Formats: sequence, structure tokens, C-alpha cells
Amino acid sequence: MIETRDKIITTEKNNIKKLVACPLCKKNIEIYVGSEDFKHARENHIFALQHIHLHGSPLHALVCFVDHHSCVRAIDVIQSVEISRDSDTFHEMLKKWSKNRI
Ligand SMILES: [Zn+2]
Repeated sequence: MIETRDKIITTEKNNIKKLVACPLCKKNIEIYVGSEDFKHARENHIFALQHIHLHGSPLHALVCFVDHHSCVRAIDVIQSVEISRDSDTFHEMLKKWSKNRI
């Protein structure tokens, strides 16, 4: 796990857009964290919201730990990724892709 301190790129509609560097593929990755996810974390006293971003070839996951001040405190990489092959998962992934991110 890599500790990081970065800054917010943009905030609109209370959503957070940030740029983080993936330690595995070295690409700069834009992550979008929804305001409702932050609200849930605050209400449940979760110190750092865990946000996962899938990308790359081969596919891997970037795990970002985002605190209440919208700072990414740490990032980690998961190289072993499996996605369930069921209609509920596929439907939820389509909802994520079609959602207006900012
Ligand atoms: Zn990567």
C-alpha cells in the first residue's frame, strides 16, 4: 500500500474527481467518488472510504482510501480480479457506466 496526499481536481454537484497514479501500470487515473458514498461513510463513521477503480490490460484494480476531506490517503493495487457473470452484476455495471459522473 502506498500512502499519498493529493489535491482535489474538481468538485461539482458534491462529487469528487481526483487524479491518482497507478503504481502498477504507471498511468494517471481519474477517479470519481459520489457524494452519496461520502455521506454514507460519514454517517457510518468510516474513516476512509474505499473506492475501487478497474482498468488496464491485464485488468487490475486500484483501491483508493479517501478520507472525509476528500484526500486520497493511500492506494493499493489488486492484480487478481474476478467479475461475477450474473445479470445483477452486469446490470449494476451498466448503471455505473451510464451514470452522469460529475
Ligand atoms: Zn493501473
